[in-house]
Amino acid sequence: MKIHRRDLLKGAAALAASSLPARLLATAAEGVAYPYLGRTEDYEDFHIIDPGLTIAKIESWTQGSYGIVRVTTNDGRQGYGQLSSFEPDLTARVLHRQLAPLVLGSDPARIDSLVDRVIDANMKFPWSYVCRALSGVDTAIWDLYGKIKDRPVCELVGGKTDPFPVYGSSMRRDISPEDEASRLAKLRDTHGFTAFKVRLGVPTGHDQDASPGRTEKLIPAVRKAVGPKVRLLADGNSCFTPPKAIAIGSQMQDQDYFWFEEPCPYWELEWTAEVANALTLNVAGGEQDNDLAQWRRMIRMKAVDILQPDLCYIGGFTRAWRVARMGQKAGNLVVPHSSHLSLVTLFSLHFMAAIPNAGPFVEFTIEGDLDGGETFYSPALKVIDGKVKLPDGPGWGITINPAWLERAAYTKSERQT
Ligand SMILES: [Mg+2]
Repeated sequence: MKIHRRDLLKGAAALAASSLPARLLATAAEGVAYPYLGRTEDYEDFHIIDPGLTIAKIESWTQGSYGIVRVTTNDGRQGYGQLSSFEPDLTARVLHRQLAPLVLGSDPARIDSLVDRVIDANMKFPWSYVCRALSGVDTAIWDLYGKIKDRPVCELVGGKTDPFPVYGSSMRRDISPEDEASRLAKLRDTHGFTAFKVRLGVPTGHDQDASPGRTEKLIPAVRKAVGPKVRLLADGNSCFTPPKAIAIGSQMQDQDYFWFEEPCPYWELEWTAEVANALTLNVAGGEQDNDLAQWRRMIRMKAVDILQPDLCYIGGFTRAWRVARMGQKAGNLVVPHSSHLSLVTLFSLHFMAAIPNAGPFVEFTIEGDLDGGETFYSPALKVIDGKVKLPDGPGWGITINPAWLERAAYTKSERQT
């Protein structure tokens, strides 16, 4: 095969361009843009603070289900963030071994480049634990921005700390339809919730139910108990094949539900698209998805109507912001996944206060703290009249409980000078 010199030069140019992944790549000759890692064509990288600082230290504290991260700059400024919940000790090992060498010495002002560099450098270890660890760094840098600017994170990106509506999210399948319906009706009255989510089937359950006929009984029982004005959502947690999901979704449509979440195994995008296409009911999904190119595919094929990035699973505020921008272009609402009372719910409140395509509420668990105690930060989030007021302090606006930090396992990575 004959290779022309021009082709060789083109290849060299492409290679050079690919070493600059944080930029929108375009081929000058054709004017074709290749927005990278979930950017839309008009995406502009964040410039919240002036460049010039460097990240000098990364610390982590892990305990139970949670992991806290602190970044410190060369001039001693600090910000707190959170690793994804669950297996935080493993996540912290990834943070210090695979991320810290890439992050230490970086300028925190260039957060888009920083998060992309972590993804690029870990091409052999895509997504899950890398993104779980990255969320700690990214959210700590956003806290740092808020502290430097003396403003809440949401205000840095156009939002306000006004009370934001939340939906009461049930995590239980070991409860009868009657008992679930009556406890939700009580919470409507005591806390003013105007929306609830219930659980159908069994997680990745291959069409099985938690008890015989529970799903079909639960859908009308909850509607009857809470009345016609409450918005109802239901989560399949990857349980169903398309025929079963469509049958259940039809019942939900008859009962005026607002969305059907993760009806099929989430990696079966075509199954989910089939369900979404067959129903008028909104299909919601994406909580597990942390590959931004996969998000682009999901949106383009209309597999989901409501986008549910988890700000920690996906690798932080910055990467979730790109999902919101993709959704905005395509006409999708966003309601992040925030299924427990760690900082992920707080991050989601700031996020939703700022994005233009925010859905009507933020997910708020009704099961209390994941580790069975008080939340590890203050002020704790409180539901009043169905809404949660965002803290007004700088950054995320909270303080990590010092006693919690004292009991936690501590690890530090520091820049060698
Ligand atoms: Mg879910």
